[in-house]
Amino acid sequence: MDKFIRVDMSTGKVNTSPIPDEYKGLGGRGLTSTVIAREVDPRAHALAGENKLVISPGLLSGTPAACSGRLSFGAKSPLTGGIKESSPGGVNAMKLARLGIAAIIVEGLPPKDELHLLHVDREGAHLEPAGKLKGLGNNAAVAALTEEFGDRVGYLSIGQAGEMKLAASSVAATDMENRPNRHAGRGGLGAVMGSKGLKAIILDERGTGPIDLVNSSEFLRFNKMWSGAVLADPATGKGMPIYGSPSAVAILNQEGGLPTRNFRYGQFEKVEEVSGKKLRQTLKERGAKMTMPCSPGCVVRCHRNYHGKDGRFAGKSPEYETLWAFGPNLEIGDLDAIAELGNLCNDYGVDTIDTGVAVAMAMEAGIIKFGDAQGALELVREIGRGSYLGRIMGSGAATAARVFGVARVPVVKGQAMVAYDPRVIKGMGVTESTSTMGADHGAGYMVGVNLGWVPNWRKVPKLSTEGQVEASRAIQTFQIAMDSTGLCQFTHTPLLNSKEGMEGVVGMLNTKFDWRWQEADFMAWGEKLLKIEHEYNIAAGLGPESDRLPLFFYKEPIAPLGAVFDVPEKEMGKFYNF
Ligand code: SF4
Repeated sequence: MDKFIRVDMSTGKVNTSPIPDEYKGLGGRGLTSTVIAREVDPRAHALAGENKLVISPGLLSGTPAACSGRLSFGAKSPLTGGIKESSPGGVNAMKLARLGIAAIIVEGLPPKDELHLLHVDREGAHLEPAGKLKGLGNNAAVAALTEEFGDRVGYLSIGQAGEMKLAASSVAATDMENRPNRHAGRGGLGAVMGSKGLKAIILDERGTGPIDLVNSSEFLRFNKMWSGAVLADPATGKGMPIYGSPSAVAILNQEGGLPTRNFRYGQFEKVEEVSGKKLRQTLKERGAKMTMPCSPGCVVRCHRNYHGKDGRFAGKSPEYETLWAFGPNLEIGDLDAIAELGNLCNDYGVDTIDTGVAVAMAMEAGIIKFGDAQGALELVREIGRGSYLGRIMGSGAATAARVFGVARVPVVKGQAMVAYDPRVIKGMGVTESTSTMGADHGAGYMVGVNLGWVPNWRKVPKLSTEGQVEASRAIQTFQIAMDSTGLCQFTHTPLLNSKEGMEGVVGMLNTKFDWRWQEADFMAWGEKLLKIEHEYNIAAGLGPESDRLPLFFYKEPIAPLGAVFDVPEKEMGKFYNF
């Protein structure tokens, strides 16, 4: 991966150049965040021409490394106002890496209100008009593109929400079945793509060869070690392939940390209706395939399609966070409705988490009642219609709360909090408070640390007030390094917990690039990158005062455990002292 493609939407020029020296050795989130920090004025508006959308495969993407199919999208976020990265699975990281491209950087604004698509293949890259795709959701847009370009290329696209530049817009990425069902969901990066007038990117790697590895036989040996660790891990080797990420529903409910009715309770009375077990049983009865990879080379294979009551394909099966956002969070115990809500979001191109919490804000305001699945569906459909109400719903929970006059707003840095109550899973409270990404479970998944899934690395009991800050800092620095490799975040447990896992991954980096890294170098790399993101956020106006949860988490005990978020302020204030 030795090329940069820079696309200037103000002139229509596309320039391919060797990767500049200052960016060599970076990939994925490490590269997107470094480019944003160096090249985007932190004072710039996220939808202005000064902002850049950076797309980068991880350093191991495109190689035989197991589960290395994550593709990083980075920009200044319209939702948080700070630096942002979001990384979907799918086929596109592999394609971009095989094309030898370290990053696509899209900048400027188009002079006219016109849409384009960027076509990238081994001959180069160019823009084409995409007016005929205007107003289409991701499903129809990819279907139209597939008619023209076939189903062997990869597609990245925005739906109606991105075209309207709504702050919770996502970017869709096609999966192994050419469906636009993997999303860079968080932080509104689809709005940045929409502001550039870029409807879609086509990645065609046909005719390229395998990626160069400095020592391929050793690389394969380390990959065997890594994939062995992934398959031996109870989560990635057993729980995820059987139940997918919704396996977390029953666990969080049992722990008393499944946020219910807009974070009022830690358990949901209809939990059995929305559990991973129930979802699996439903999909099995309806004839869905039970395990699939979303990207080439994944050995976990937790991706699944949803099938409706008629047994037919009905979109993507919801991940845990989507299931939570439209399920317990809204007191909806109907899997079909939850899946439909998630798939409407996928089609319109909005984040399911921020949209689910925006619906909760409408419920708080009494616009519809908690538990009203049909009302929730109507609100979400407004996004696709582009009505004023829909534009509010697609702009995230913080905006919806402001417009609807709601005070109970679970957001940090403008981004909706996720499916783990911070009063009970306190480590997640630290991560969601302090993360450079705004409230974001993917920035440092403390659930495993708090519930004992990574005992060889660290264990801090969920209700302990001690040790959470140090552990969250360690996992956030680890995560940014992991997000730079392209490895799927779901495989963080074997990477943290297994000696072979870490040795395998560091070994693959060394034998791909001729490095001499140890585990400590991997962690130090993450620390350096986290500092870059943090400094950018401070310059963008997100200082220490933004590293806190909403007040009700400190004051209102959550049933049944009666816990509040009580990690000492003094400790929280030390998070960035490194
Ligand atoms: S673990 Fe699941 S989400 Fe991750 S790459 Fe594999 S199938 Fe995709």
